[in-house]
Amino acid sequence: MISKLNNRELDQKIKSLARAENKLLALVVEHIKEADRRKLYLDFNYPNLYDYLVKECGYPGGSAQRRIDAARLLAVEPKLKDKIERGEINLSQTTLLQKSFREKGQRVTPEQKRSLIAKISDMTVAETQVLISKELEIKIKEQTKVTHQKNGSVRFEVTFTREEWESLQKAKDLASNATQSNDLPTLIKYLSDRFIKQKEGSAATVAVKKQVLQRDQCCQYKDHNTQRLCGSRWNLHIDHIKPKWAGGTDDLENLRVLCQKHNLHVYRQQAHIKQLSS
Ligand SMILES: [Zn+2]
Repeated sequence: MISKLNNRELDQKIKSLARAENKLLALVVEHIKEADRRKLYLDFNYPNLYDYLVKECGYPGGSAQRRIDAARLLAVEPKLKDKIERGEINLSQTTLLQKSFREKGQRVTPEQKRSLIAKISDMTVAETQVLISKELEIKIKEQTKVTHQKNGSVRFEVTFTREEWESLQKAKDLASNATQSNDLPTLIKYLSDRFIKQKEGSAATVAVKKQVLQRDQCCQYKDHNTQRLCGSRWNLHIDHIKPKWAGGTDDLENLRVLCQKHNLHVYRQQAHIKQLSS
């Protein structure tokens, strides 16, 4: 029974299982390499090794691709098997290598590949990445890419300088207690919310806010077509009719009450106008 093990025994057990796992992984990769050489997938009417591993062997797509990447490297460097078995090289590293080799095409010689495999032993994934891009002179991606996706989410690909990245990592560590999370979008949202609160919170004083709330009592948003007042009393915010960035003041006449939904709606419209005018 696992729950009966003492801490030392549990530690020993996990370590021995991890060793066994690496051994098994090296064997799997070795066999996939042979299946690749024989084009075994053709026997099962699959057009490629990937489909065979996913549909016939039940591997999730990413796992199948990582194993194929490692198998193709093993075909170039037989020593890779021992390195995987001993845990000196993991599949994240071999996949990084294969991806870079594909990117460079025919220009990477087998000798270069073997030399890189030797060098990445015992490196972290980050170190591996740095080494590969140096040795293969892979261009640094600097363009920021924004893709709006079907479900309304946004995919954002961005390159940070080392300094920017380190400062972000430090912020992540400092905020980890508050965010209970380790991912970047959560951190950026957390920092943005704090900044917005700081900027907007200080804009109108508590006394002025109270006056606006007493005057308006509910959301003052008017539908453009029907001219109907929203009137919601739920989750109310103080909004600047003329935004601060456009020179709007904290005077009572420039303030109104909006519900959260309409506050966000108006904010988006203004952000759009701001973008067009800049
Ligand atoms: Zn409203």
